[in-house]
Amino acid sequence: MSLIADNIKRIRENIAEAARRANRDPSDIRLMGVTKTVDDQRIAEAIDAGLDIVGENYVQEGKRKIEKMGKPLEWHMIGHLQTNKAKYAVRLFDMIHSVDRLKLAQELDKRAGAEGVRINILVEVNVSGEDSKSGVVRDDAVALVKEIASFDHIFLQGLMTMPPWFDDPEDARPYFAALRELRDRIVTENIPKVEMKELSMGMSQDYRVAVEEGATIVRIGTAIFGERIY
Ligand SMILES: *Cc1c(COP(=O)(O)O)cnc(C)c1O
Repeated sequence: MSLIADNIKRIRENIAEAARRANRDPSDIRLMGVTKTVDDQRIAEAIDAGLDIVGENYVQEGKRKIEKMGKPLEWHMIGHLQTNKAKYAVRLFDMIHSVDRLKLAQELDKRAGAEGVRINILVEVNVSGEDSKSGVVRDDAVALVKEIASFDHIFLQGLMTMPPWFDDPEDARPYFAALRELRDRIVTENIPKVEMKELSMGMSQDYRVAVEEGATIVRIGTAIFGERIY
């Protein structure tokens, strides 16, 4: 077995164990491979090993890879998205995790309408409130969700977050729990057309904790592909 296949297998086992610790069904959690800077050969190996969601941070890099590898799998956009790239993003990606402002949501809706596609999105939330982090701050999230609900071509499926970096992944737990609590609060608002089934949270360092706190998509780069070389 290749190193990448081996890594994927081990991560899936860890996800399943974390799910069981939290009395969750392991099949409710999907593994995304994050492929920024990763070369095509290694992505192909991961796909051969059964990886079925790939996450890209940049529209250009994603476009090149999607054109090369095709779409038997899902491609998700997880990086900061500039409004002027919205039209490419709706053509390329199956889901956009990084919707953090009304202007971007509006542009995605308009472009998806023009292309005749419906696009699934997540709202990215800055749970720590740190200036350096992207995402809508917690207090503004419900208002943004309500505005997004009025659009016809983008469909909200849940929330995404990236907590601050900690050496001890346990320290990230309150941020994951906060995203889940925000999700639960939005659910009680019963906003038409808003689904809250996805919680995109957890990376190489802290995905086990994220799964225990309710993640449905974990976004893993380094633990699958090794250290990134920029
Ligand atoms: C790079 C990246 C990841 C993956 O990080 P690793 O620590 O390598 O697993 C996940 N989510 C986002 C938004 C990223 O930019």
